[in-house]
Amino acid sequence: MENLPIFMNLKDRNVLVIGGGVVAVRKAELLLQAGARVTLIAPRACKELLALHDAGKVVWKEQTFGPGIVRNYRLVVAATDNQAINRLVFDECERHGIPVNVADQPQLCSFILPSIVERGPITIAVSTGGRSPILARLLKARLETYIPAGFGVLADLLGRYRNAVKVRFPRLEQRRDFWERMLDGPLTQLATSGRNEAAEKFIEEALHAPIVAKQGEVWLIGTGPGDPDLLTLKALRLLQQADVLVYDRLVPESIINLARREAERIDVGKSMGRHTLPQNDINQLLVDLARQGKRVARLKGGDPFIFGRGGEELECAAAAGVPCQVVPGITAASGCAAYSGIPLTHRDCAQSVRFVTGHTKEEGCEIDWRALVAEGQTLVFYMGLANVDHICAQLQAYGMPADMPAAVVERGTLPDQRVFTSTLASLPSSIRGERLSSPSLIIVGRVVELRQRLGFSVEAASPESLMRLASFA
Ligand code: SAH
Repeated sequence: MENLPIFMNLKDRNVLVIGGGVVAVRKAELLLQAGARVTLIAPRACKELLALHDAGKVVWKEQTFGPGIVRNYRLVVAATDNQAINRLVFDECERHGIPVNVADQPQLCSFILPSIVERGPITIAVSTGGRSPILARLLKARLETYIPAGFGVLADLLGRYRNAVKVRFPRLEQRRDFWERMLDGPLTQLATSGRNEAAEKFIEEALHAPIVAKQGEVWLIGTGPGDPDLLTLKALRLLQQADVLVYDRLVPESIINLARREAERIDVGKSMGRHTLPQNDINQLLVDLARQGKRVARLKGGDPFIFGRGGEELECAAAAGVPCQVVPGITAASGCAAYSGIPLTHRDCAQSVRFVTGHTKEEGCEIDWRALVAEGQTLVFYMGLANVDHICAQLQAYGMPADMPAAVVERGTLPDQRVFTSTLASLPSSIRGERLSSPSLIIVGRVVELRQRLGFSVEAASPESLMRLASFA
């Protein structure tokens, strides 16, 4: 984290602004909004500053900044065009341990003034760590459109009931649960559309209803092939409600980080340095956690029902009487195809697509190679990297042409995605020296050739190539 965001109470505290121009005035106005007592120091004052001073809103001291002054203030902002003074202000504040911000000079700031979105008592601050104030403003604009104006009213309403809820639900989890139920239900709608009485009635009734023991649940959530942008809205929402996350190595940290900070995290991929937890133990773990009343998010790379053993976990939970939900995700084949410019079907050369396990001896059943070599289809092998030689050899042995295009997509949709294209005959040798790592997907079929026509290069998809793909479509 570049900076720790904190919200400071400046009500009736003395703060100092150095500068007499418009920028200094804007800073002073911001500080006034936070309830601070503002003093400005400057040898000359612009019109706006004089107006503020005359209205009794700020104190203007007609002088040049010098040593010793900052000591009487809680916080200092400098907005002068005099480099020497800005530097002096910064040094003085640092010496006295007073938070200081010099406008437009991140190197002379011990705190940043973020872009702000306000809804009544709600304050949202956006900072780019001084990289780009314009980008921060753009984010602010997006948040402004996203957060309803009535959220201020809603926050006030919740604040009024905070104590009553604390008395009724002494345990933190109970309270969290109560509020989540309230905010997920019609309360938000009532409060933000001005129906305050109805909103209050709704809370009152819920507050006095008998307490029922919370029931745990298991959610099998497909998190897509890796890029967090490919999560579904439902996956994101449930991820943020879960009490505990159970995941393995296919789920990247960037997705796990989207969950609530307090949510318990259990990595069953390499749980505490041991080997992967056996499937039966995972099934049992999910049931045990749900029985403790927890909402368990079982995160699965891609789609839970495509080579994800989601069915088994679901069956086990259902047998134990635990309520379950499945959230589909974008499967690796779709993600890799889109990000590498290889359509999975195409009117001219692939009328169907097959997702095949590359574990060629999956529980004793050998793959039906004969069915796979038919013309007009695309084959996508999951978990096939270790068997790539065998897969390519078998397909040829069963009659697939040696020059059939084939590709490997490594870490598809992730920033370090790599794509290798070749033919069935030479794919194994062409990737031998590349130290490919998991997860990787093998795509076999004429569609692989389309990649070049779509303008995709050998490297990961660049924004430009994606644009080209968009206009091609
Ligand atoms: N349920 C998952 C598949 C799990 S099986 C889904 O629907 O995608 C694990 C296999 O998926 C890996 O061995 C690999 O072949 C493939 N895979 C998953 N994510 C991938 C990615 N980002 N890039 C390439 N292959 C991936």
